[in-house]
Amino acid sequence: MIVKNIKSFIEFYKFLGVTDCIYQHPRIERNSSLSVREHFTPNSEAKINKQESNKSKSVCLEDLKSEIQSLDCNLKEIATNLVFSDGNHNSKIMILGEAPGASEDIEGRPFVGEAGKLLDKMLNYIDLNRNNFYISNIVFWRPPGNRTPNDKEISICLPLTKKHISLIKPKLLILVGSIAAKSILSSKEGITKLRGKEHFYFDEELNLTIPVRAIFHPAYLFRNPIEKKRTWEDLLDIDKLIKKEKIL
Ligand code: URA
Repeated sequence: MIVKNIKSFIEFYKFLGVTDCIYQHPRIERNSSLSVREHFTPNSEAKINKQESNKSKSVCLEDLKSEIQSLDCNLKEIATNLVFSDGNHNSKIMILGEAPGASEDIEGRPFVGEAGKLLDKMLNYIDLNRNNFYISNIVFWRPPGNRTPNDKEISICLPLTKKHISLIKPKLLILVGSIAAKSILSSKEGITKLRGKEHFYFDEELNLTIPVRAIFHPAYLFRNPIEKKRTWEDLLDIDKLIKKEKIL
């Protein structure tokens, strides 16, 4: 592994509680059998080539936001703000979390609270930040008391989350936490099984298969710091994919 940002690398290890380096541990090379390029059909390539200008993409996103605003979702009545997105909408990396919490509800931006700060810190270790990724949630309003969104709330928001993905056209989708991973991958498995593996999301609108990685939710890492080690491995795996496929 080539460590570009040595300071972040050491900080991350300190954050894990590591104080000494006893021996060098070779990292197991995982062969990614599927290349991102292989999943772009001629049809989807053509659609990507016809991609709207930046301006029209912004307009499309504004239209989507209005469409979300008119959803018949009970959460909307109690929330302070619709929490839509943050980051760079031209990025090829899209991150999706579960639902806004208290800080996000007040600010109207995803992942700005304590969990968001930890997520930013984790992603910074692999040189990802809000200038080079785009971030949103699968549910657009805060569930009261930060409870998990229920199936009905998720299914009301899901068609527009899928539309959101189609508009961004990411080449990598990072799903944060169990609820986002299960909903987007239509899986019954929890995050412990979904993380650390290659997944693909099929975008019906674009006829495009998008590589997906799932990671533990930062709020879960606060409760289970032991899992930070596996998250670090997941981040390195994501970094490797980004570099291999020249996603950024
Ligand atoms: N947790 C999430 O899943 N999303 C947010 O925006 C904040 C916390």
